[in-house]
Amino acid sequence: MSTVRLFDDNSYLTEFTATVTSCRPWENGFAVTLDRTAFCPEGGGQKGDSGILGDATVIHTVEDDDILHLTDRRLVVGQTIKGRIDWDRRWYRMQHHSGEHVLSGLVTAQYGFHNVGFHLGDELVTIDYDGVLSREQLDALECEANAVICQNRAITASYPSPEELSTLPYRSKKEIDGALRIVVVEGIDICACCAPHVGHTGEIGILKITDMKHYKGGVRLQMVCGNTAVRDYQQKQALTSHITTALSTVQEKGIAAFDAHIAAVDAATYENDRLLLAVAEELSAAYAAAETTCVVVSALTGDAARHLARSVAERTHRTCVVLNAVDSGYRYTMYCEHDNFTELVKAANAALQGKGGGRPPFASGAYQSTLGDIRRWFIENS
Ligand SMILES: [Zn+2]
Repeated sequence: MSTVRLFDDNSYLTEFTATVTSCRPWENGFAVTLDRTAFCPEGGGQKGDSGILGDATVIHTVEDDDILHLTDRRLVVGQTIKGRIDWDRRWYRMQHHSGEHVLSGLVTAQYGFHNVGFHLGDELVTIDYDGVLSREQLDALECEANAVICQNRAITASYPSPEELSTLPYRSKKEIDGALRIVVVEGIDICACCAPHVGHTGEIGILKITDMKHYKGGVRLQMVCGNTAVRDYQQKQALTSHITTALSTVQEKGIAAFDAHIAAVDAATYENDRLLLAVAEELSAAYAAAETTCVVVSALTGDAARHLARSVAERTHRTCVVLNAVDSGYRYTMYCEHDNFTELVKAANAALQGKGGGRPPFASGAYQSTLGDIRRWFIENS
């Protein structure tokens, strides 16, 4: 005898009593069947319920001929026990699943596209439609879906007879054997679906499409409903406030202010790079003329230090080492065109308590020696 599906008639039932009809080992726990249950199994893109059964925790619920409650403890066959589903999880799923039916009903009616993939995860809800929708179309659909939510239309489930079914224009992802459960959103959608739903569209609260990307010739949408949508709104409000405050602007002008800020940063970065290279070029002329040594101490780092090292080396035809003073010694940027590049870098590191390396002609790292020792070593060895 298969389990009576209490959630079919009452999706708000959180507690119930039932008799254990079987219990067998299953992966790391046990698979328990009951004569009746409020635990809805996984299916149609939606995870199964979790909760409590007697003194066991139900980690997940699946359907395999019968409804299997996957528990962490063995339960005694024949025992009558109390069950309680994790209502927060169930409510989240009911709000999002009903929201999906409202949106898919509108999409199918207006564009003829079908929901060909639905994933109702704990963190992420996605819907795949087999046709492309533009941002403007999605904005309009979102407004209409929220209007349907405000209209508080009834959502009902039933098992129509084959005769009744043949007259119903219902959505269905696949052909199903046996009695078909039909979920109706009054005037909006008719769909074959086994999942628990909210009783009226108002309980969905709010529906927001948060992302759209092109996927397999259609689109994949991300959607949030109810409390999750409110939390998402709060996060986005915090983000917007943070950015507009930093840019000393208001939300309406935020995008233009952000674009102007990025353009200013890009221009400043470009100008900074140009000035550093110009400074490096001028310094290299001065060093090449004045210095008999190839060791140069400078504030320049990064690309500017590399440019300085290369420029001095090219003017003097010698290896050049640019040093930046740091707490423990000197960071170095070396330019060396000699065949013995690798040996020179290693020997300098060994003699000057250094580390680092690179690819010819550039090496970089740090020496923990005095400036006098570094100068002497390079005069004698490079
Ligand atoms: Zn459904």
